[in-house]
Order: sequence, then C-alpha cells, then structure tokens
Amino acid sequence: MEKSDKVVLNERLKEISKYNVKIHNWSKTAYSTPELYFEPEFEDDIVKIIELAKRNNKKVRAIGVAHSPSDLPFSDGYIISMAKLNKVIETITVEAGMEISQLNEELIKHGLALSNLCSISDLTIAGMISTATHGTGINFGCLSTQIKSLTLFTESCGIMYCSETVNSDIFKAALCSLGALGIITRVTVQCENAFLLETNQTPAKLNYILDNLDFIVHSAEHVRFGWFPHTDDCIIWKANRTNKVIKSNIIISCDASRVLIYNLSTFVVTETITTKNILHS
Ligand SMILES: Cc1cc2nc3c(=O)[nH]c(=O)nc-3n(C[C@H](O)[C@H](O)[C@H](O)COP(=O)(O)OP(=O)(O)OC[C@H]3O[C@@H](n4cnc5c(N)ncnc54)[C@H](O)[C@@H]3O)c2cc1C
Repeated sequence: MEKSDKVVLNERLKEISKYNVKIHNWSKTAYSTPELYFEPEFEDDIVKIIELAKRNNKKVRAIGVAHSPSDLPFSDGYIISMAKLNKVIETITVEAGMEISQLNEELIKHGLALSNLCSISDLTIAGMISTATHGTGINFGCLSTQIKSLTLFTESCGIMYCSETVNSDIFKAALCSLGALGIITRVTVQCENAFLLETNQTPAKLNYILDNLDFIVHSAEHVRFGWFPHTDDCIIWKANRTNKVIKSNIIISCDASRVLIYNLSTFVVTETITTKNILHS
C-alpha cells in the first residue's frame, strides 16, 4: 500500500499495528499480506480496531498461530493477531490468544487439566475452538466441548458473554465459527483434576485395522493409528488413565504439555499430560 493511501490511526492503533506484514500458515501452503496487521494487548484495543474497520469498510479476521492447513485465518483487510492476548484472568478463564501449551502450564499450577488434547499444543485456544479441533477417544467430543463460556466481540453487538444458558445460540455457533462470527477475547474452560495417561504403541497391518476398526477404537480411552505410506504397516497408539506409582525413567521427549518416557524393561512408552510427573509403567 502506498503511504498516501494509509488510513488515519490514533496513537494507540499506531502502536499496535504494522504495514507490509507477510504471513503464512504452518505448512507454507497459504500466504497473506493484509492491509494492516494488529497485535492488540487489551480487549479495548479490539474495540478500537473493529471501529476503525467499520469506518473504513474493511474485513477483519482474527489469527491464532496459523496452524490451519488453509488460508482460513487470512484477510486482505485487517488481521488481528491474538498473540499478546494470552493472559490468565482468573483460574480457568484466560484470554483467547493463549496457546494450549501455556494453558496446560497454568492449569497444572492448580492441579487441573483439560480432559482431552489434540496432537500439538502450540495452537491458540480460540483457533482450537473456532475450528472444532479434535483429539482422540470415541467417548470424547471435539475440544470445543471443553468450553464453558466465552466473550465475543462483534461489530453489530459489541461485547457479548456467551454460554450454554446466556446467548446460547451464539455460543454454539462460536464453538465452530471458522472465525466468521466475531473476535473471541476470553474463554472459560471446563477442567478436571490433573491425571496421568499410560500409553502404549503396537505395530499392526492396515487391513487388520480397517477390518477391526470398531473394536480397536473402543479398546482404550484414547486410540489413534498412523500409517506408513506405500506399506501395509501401521502403529496403533492407545492411552488409558492410570494410578500407577511414579518412578524414575528415561525421558526421551518433553514439551510444555507432555512428557514421553521410555521404559527399557517393558518397551512401553508412557505419556503424561503434565511436565511434572514421570510414570513408571
Ligand atoms: C502439526 C499440526 C497438527 C495438528 N493436529 C491437529 C489435531 O490433532 N486435531 C485437529 O483437529 N487439528 C489439528 N491441527 C489443525 C489445528 O488444530 C487447527 O487448524 C487450529 O485451528 C489451529 O489453531 P491456530 O491457533 O493456529 O488457529 P489459526 O489457524 O490461526 O486460525 C484458525 C481459525 O480460527 C479463527 N480464530 C483464531 N483466533 C480467533 C479469535 N480470537 N476469535 C475468533 N476466531 C479466531 C481464525 O480466524 C481462523 O478461522 C493440526 C495442525 C498442525 C499444523
């Protein structure tokens, strides 16, 4: 955009905006150069951005960490990055740009955990909700089902609190809105007491899995399988909750939400949803 075409921004909007930002999704299959890219720090900043967009008739999109395998969070108009809206407001109510890895760390401080997670933890809670991200487990809903309430900002209605009982239709729509409903600013999550998961992986043939899919998906609380392309070989991964005693083991992998440990005696990989505990299997 030429300098002469630039919109007039007040001091605060100048501080939190950037021109000529080029962004891409995780797999680098989609790119975007929005007219203006905002990094708000407060909910009030979002109000100002939406007012500006309304005045200038611009489209607005919120973006998490752009892990969507498409151009879903992109816009030629204004993009609002949720990266700095990631603070804890009170226990289990957080700003919507918080990444799941940070949420897990906050929850474990209170001995709490989400009931289910997806395969990565560096996506934002609002991105997770807006795309109805899923984990594994035949008896678990998508991860949006772990949301108790949220605050949504729309151009026509301003700030709205939404839950199962308040603005319930909008709440349900927001749980898989693909970012088209408004900007989610706060989220209250449904948690439970932190728990340990014991996982194990076994090799299996693709035909065996396809022929026995119903049995396999019901054979553990969480089940997933991976296929090695151009072969008949797969790995079945299962996880169940356990109360087994924690003993030392060899840590082979660690991120903010998981610890993977490898028990040499039984060749069982054990995974916890916290960084704090190591489980002997
Ligand atoms: C390596 C990898 C592994 C993955 N594993 C899984 C998996 O196990 N299960 C699964 O279901 N998916 C998985 N995904 C997909 C991923 O969970 C979704 O694409 C998720 O939306 C990414 O979150 P994000 O923060 O990157 O959101 P973005 O991609 O940035 O945005 C996604 C959508 O949410 C909207 N949005 C973001 N923030 C807000 C907000 N504050 N208010 C309103 N709308 C908003 C955007 O506008 C956009 O429409 C994986 C992706 C990758 C790259």
